[in-house]
Amino acid sequence: MNIHEYQAKALLKGYGAPVAEGVAILKVEEAEAAAKSLPGPLYVVKSQIHAGGRGKGKFKELSPEAKGGVRLAKSIDEVVAHAKEMLGHTLVTAQTGEAGKQVNRLYIEDGADIARELYCSLLVDRSVGRVAFVVSTEGGMDIEAVAHDTPEKIQTIAIDPEAGVTAADVAAISKALQLEGAAAEDAKSLFPALYKAFNEKDMALLEVNPLIVMKDGHLRVLDAKMSFDGNALFRHDDVKLLRDETEEDAKEIEASKWDLAYVALDGNIGCMVNGAGLAMATMDIIKLYGKEPANFCDVGGGAGKEKVAAAFKIITADPKVEGILVNIFGGIMKCDVIAEGVIAAVKEVGLKVPLVVRLEGTNVELGKKILNESGLAITAADDLDDAAKKIVAAING
Ligand code: GDP
Ligand code: MG
Repeated sequence: MNIHEYQAKALLKGYGAPVAEGVAILKVEEAEAAAKSLPGPLYVVKSQIHAGGRGKGKFKELSPEAKGGVRLAKSIDEVVAHAKEMLGHTLVTAQTGEAGKQVNRLYIEDGADIARELYCSLLVDRSVGRVAFVVSTEGGMDIEAVAHDTPEKIQTIAIDPEAGVTAADVAAISKALQLEGAAAEDAKSLFPALYKAFNEKDMALLEVNPLIVMKDGHLRVLDAKMSFDGNALFRHDDVKLLRDETEEDAKEIEASKWDLAYVALDGNIGCMVNGAGLAMATMDIIKLYGKEPANFCDVGGGAGKEKVAAAFKIITADPKVEGILVNIFGGIMKCDVIAEGVIAAVKEVGLKVPLVVRLEGTNVELGKKILNESGLAITAADDLDDAAKKIVAAING
């Protein structure tokens, strides 16, 4: 689960990290009061969407020359003018895709005088089984480009979970970031604080890009992206409250209600599977036969009929879906339950696209019998290969 920049900054502030003062607003009318509550004379007006690259982004409704999704303002009037141009408009960035995202909130922040822009993130480094800091002196820009063009400028410092962030770790990070004076002093509290926040809140990613050294020599968290491990949300009611469903795919929200693993993709075959491995294999074989999956929905091990029906409805709700492949290996999951769930869903929402079902495992004969006697236009498949061929053929007409 992702949250907005202003929420991430508030959370980090609670851990003592240096962040600017700021006010989040939903309406243009709130911009003036928000700016007046800040010290000035420099303000920043920041689009709050769950995507990065906002600074370089473009608003669809505005001319290409108009400024992007993060704008500096030197007066309160300018803040208000920016707010008018930005709120309610669609921002397209390198991360939003062509459709862009509507800006429904702005964060009005006290502006910083920047000396250097650095990169600092924390993530779970699977190669060493530890939480690691990934840092670079090349902040503010696209870190993927830095990783591609000048990988030597990115350094990883993994943290021993027993010891936490030691003085030696701070020194190593500070050296990598070439911090001196006041910044090096700030680092002694900032890096342990980021690590503490990451661990205590069960984050999957914490990215500060840029972390800045200001002209006065101090550090400040200028941007913050935070993702939380969905499997740990049950123990963070405070984090759950930060969820902004308007930023999420409606189908993904529905899927999470049913505890279904749903992933939207770019192709046109909807896939209902059980288990991540089978999902991967199903997608591979669809690609092998020349098509792309539109999504996959993993119903997991012990789903009941209602959950299967919910999964089927989520898959069919995607207008990109031109055909559906149900590929289930019934272990704990029983094939007759899958068959009944599919039929219940089809009866409710109808079946407008070809449906190929491949069932194997527990109660497979009963499952097939239920599907055959349903009177619905379902194509049965014998194995994975047969199933992929049949659904691709059905779509190709
Ligand atoms: P992103 O484009 O979505 O990553 O948004 P950021 O919050 O990282 O802002 C983009 C860029 O705007 C930063 O890299 C800075 O160069 C600039 N910027 C943001 N806040 C300030 C500020 O307070 N002062 C100055 N001078 N520039 C800022
Ligand atoms: Mg940024």
